[in-house]
Amino acid sequence: MTEQIGSAKNPVTEADIIEGMNANKFTFFYQPKVSLVTGKVIGAEALIRWIESDGTVIPPGMFIPVAERSSLIKEITRHMFPKLAKDVLLLMDIDEQLVVSFNTSAKDFEDDTFINVVLKTLKMAQLSADKLQVELTETATLEASGVILKNINRLRAEGLELAMDDFGTGYSSIDTLSKCPFTTIKLDQGMIGRMLDSEKNSTIVRSAIRMAHELGINVIAEGVETQEQYHYLLEAGCTKVQGFWVSKPLPLDQFIAFVEADLRWSGMPIGLIHMAVIDHVQWRKELVSELIKNATLPSDAPHRKYQKTPPLSCKECRLGRWYYGLGQMYHELKAFQSLEKPHCEFHEIGQMLVKLVSEGADIKDLTPHLRELSEKSAEVLGQLHILENEGLLDMHSAHSEWRSHPLNQKNQG
Ligand code: C2E
Ligand code: CA
Ligand code: CA
Repeated sequence: MTEQIGSAKNPVTEADIIEGMNANKFTFFYQPKVSLVTGKVIGAEALIRWIESDGTVIPPGMFIPVAERSSLIKEITRHMFPKLAKDVLLLMDIDEQLVVSFNTSAKDFEDDTFINVVLKTLKMAQLSADKLQVELTETATLEASGVILKNINRLRAEGLELAMDDFGTGYSSIDTLSKCPFTTIKLDQGMIGRMLDSEKNSTIVRSAIRMAHELGINVIAEGVETQEQYHYLLEAGCTKVQGFWVSKPLPLDQFIAFVEADLRWSGMPIGLIHMAVIDHVQWRKELVSELIKNATLPSDAPHRKYQKTPPLSCKECRLGRWYYGLGQMYHELKAFQSLEKPHCEFHEIGQMLVKLVSEGADIKDLTPHLRELSEKSAEVLGQLHILENEGLLDMHSAHSEWRSHPLNQKNQG
């Protein structure tokens, strides 16, 4: 079954929707999401489709806005959730790492009916809550009342992931982030589509990715349509993508075939190496500024014992967490191996400086060690740059396998 834009029932009325629901005409298509870290399919977004008896597929744009104008949208969400759970249960047998996201409307959280359906369904299906991700647009969150926010928080507390959909389209995306416990932001397809048109648009995308990195939130780019966009995102430190360049939304059976084909979107996520560079420089600046501030205090100032330093262990700074975590994918590369020693030594110098300050040292006492610290830092950055260059080479030689893959050709056709 291929997706065609249906023309039936134009314009669609609420009565048509109710009739469609009663006749069981709604189903989900699944659009794959790919990790730029592992190069594998990590899940999908469930997108509703109305399938007419003659096989015509009616896209959501033709009926979801109608349903959203009234409380009918709540009926649809409640009607569809058990179907979703059934599909996800089947997907778990194919790959239990997959996470499936689904779209909700703020209205779904006006009372606790939907939450109760979710919890009851998950329990009956013995499905773990972390296999599902709720997508909510930032506009919806922005307009949400106290009750709605309370219910969204409850769902998150039950273990469902929470994604802010269409990030970058609302009036105050950043402010909205603080209102809800989002675990992911989805960069809006408009933002991705314009990303390569101007320096300004590229910077907006880069800054959003960097902000999410510092907040410890995942980022996925949607609407990725070209290899150029994919490469740019890889370089910018984005870790997940979704879009026609990977695949269109697929009926469940085709999505299963897609997962089973076990394709790899190779190419190193070199943007993460660049993030590590920035993390390292930020760490150093933070430490040095705190040291200097305290070294100008009287030698017995109590503040010296309570310095506000960034994490001092080389395994706990952001670079260290990357190195001993996701970064391990590079463990075979010499530049990666050569990074550990100078990085740990850099932290040892940092720890020594903190100790000297707490014992009363002044700027003059610190200067030779501060010089040592910046020399070690240059060594760390040098290794990271070598690694980044290796990554760039790898990225540009990748993808040929996918370009010629029959599934991709079918997808583009
Ligand atoms: P959305 O949540 O922003 O979903 C992404 C839309 O972009 C999907 O359209 C998808 O097919 C399309 N898309 C994906 N990759 C690309 C790409 O590379 N380029 C372009 N141009 N488009 C791409 P779709 O499936 O027609 O859904 C439209 C909207 O309908 C969704 O936007 C969502 O807001 C809503 N929707 C879909 N399913 C549901 C549902 O089950 N419940 C609710 N409440 N809303 C839904
Ligand atoms: Ca969505
Ligand atoms: Ca979206």
